[in-house]
Amino acid sequence: MTALVIVGHGTRSAEGVAQFAALVERVRTRAGGTVGDVEGGFIELSRPPLTDAVGALADRGHRALVALPLVLTAAGHGKGDIPAALAREQQRHPGLSYAYGRPLGPHPMLHTALEERIDAALAGADRADTWVALIGRGSTDPDANAEVAKVARLLWEGRGYAGVEPGFISLAEPSVPAVLDRLRRLGARRIVVAPYFLFAGVLPDRIRAQAREFAAAHPELDLRVADLIGDCDALADLVLERHEEAVRGDIRMNCDTCAYRVSMPGFVDKVGRPQTPHDHPDDPVGGHHHHHDHHHQHPEPALRPGEVAIVGGGPGPADLITVRGRELLEVADVVVVDRLAPQGLLAGLRPGVRVVDAAKSPRGPSVGQDVINTALVRHARAGRRVVRLKGGDPFVFGRGHEEVLACAAAGVPVTVVPGVTSAVAAAALAGIPVTHRGTAHEFTVVSGHLPPGHPNSLIDWAALGRARGTVVVLMGVDTIGAVAAALIAHGRAPDTPVVAVQDAGHPGQRSLPARLDGIAAVAARAGVRPPAVFVVGPVAAFAEEPALAASGH
Ligand code: SAH
Repeated sequence: MTALVIVGHGTRSAEGVAQFAALVERVRTRAGGTVGDVEGGFIELSRPPLTDAVGALADRGHRALVALPLVLTAAGHGKGDIPAALAREQQRHPGLSYAYGRPLGPHPMLHTALEERIDAALAGADRADTWVALIGRGSTDPDANAEVAKVARLLWEGRGYAGVEPGFISLAEPSVPAVLDRLRRLGARRIVVAPYFLFAGVLPDRIRAQAREFAAAHPELDLRVADLIGDCDALADLVLERHEEAVRGDIRMNCDTCAYRVSMPGFVDKVGRPQTPHDHPDDPVGGHHHHHDHHHQHPEPALRPGEVAIVGGGPGPADLITVRGRELLEVADVVVVDRLAPQGLLAGLRPGVRVVDAAKSPRGPSVGQDVINTALVRHARAGRRVVRLKGGDPFVFGRGHEEVLACAAAGVPVTVVPGVTSAVAAAALAGIPVTHRGTAHEFTVVSGHLPPGHPNSLIDWAALGRARGTVVVLMGVDTIGAVAAALIAHGRAPDTPVVAVQDAGHPGQRSLPARLDGIAAVAARAGVRPPAVFVVGPVAAFAEEPALAASGH
């Protein structure tokens, strides 16, 4: 079941805070069974802070959230401040992911709500000689202001008002007095000022004050101020609709004229503070980054047709891939996956992406690799964007460099995206640091594929036996007995702590602690299966209480 966190900006108005809380409660009630959990929080000024809302959801076991910015238009709050606050929450809660909902407006439900507020202000007076001044917050982002103008137009369309004109209470023109004066000069006798605001706050108060002031100066006018949209069923239902969209991954924003994307006259100088990049889920890579200065802050990750990217997918959980790796996956036409690559990432691919399962290649390591290399080159030459998705880091026992060489030899452009290697991450996920001050000042990652003494082995087991640091053995399930014996023979104490970590990051993750002289027996008795790493050395004593180890004894 999904969890929804409704994110408000915050206000100095106690009434505004109460309306927000009431709306969160209303959403909870009206959701019925369609949303698993609902919380609301503010990024500044008001309580509860966002961090409490996210913390509550995390405490109840939610790791995948829909975060919905409670904003009418996409401007700095929705594009910059709220994503930045959510990024901080992700740092606080490792593994937390969120789908970001789009702004509430424009939406017919909102226009109907505005119409009702205007009707209430009219109290039966005729629409045909009523003019409406729709007053938005105003932004340094012209696109956000254009949204308010669009809502004004949509509100006029077919509803029988004499006219609807947009105005702004801050940062944009026309101001409230300016738009009211414009309507007066057009011959308006009755004007309803309709604030395009959700809840009470300093700015709606200011709209009312300026409207009253204008009315006082023009006693010939019938000037009324409509209520705010406020906490109501229509707003709660709209929140649920935006939630539903985000769950489906169907989020569209108006991007073509976004000031974070295109240079708008006078815009750059007006932005006072940096924005956090926020990419749209349906954007092609390289197309759209919400950076305040229009320059990319990290190297362009674009993958062009005919190119191959060798991408490290991390140790298993779908959210331990790098941002760049995920961006490339989002644009791939073909994804060639290994058995150890995070399978959870495949569910998020665009529809129609071809997934090639490299684990199903013909038997025999060199044959399989040849087939993969050939496939990469063939798909690239057919003009596709090819991602080769591997487990961990592509260059750590991943044969990634062989694929790079094969592409290069065929003249196919190829890039590498490093990944979080299981050599470090499997230990970390089991609570073991591969180094620790005063305990281990080195760690060595070795392949257990060939046992000590094998004629093709390139490992100096004697040196590893003499050393005092951490040894991490990959691909060692079958050879751990021989590896342990060699390490002991060359000087490691038989009671050196070892932990076997199987399926790190997966639901079935388990750790089995043992002494070096007993690890082979413990692993065999517990039925340890690949993928597993063995962490050898004093740091292994830091392993967290193993959840399932007890049942193996
Ligand atoms: N390139 C990969 C390693 C490939 S070799 C990386 O950087 O992680 C395959 C070995 O990696 C497995 O035999 C196992 O030792 C280790 N491994 C990969 N994923 C693992 C996981 N989730 N848990 C434990 N070990 C893992």
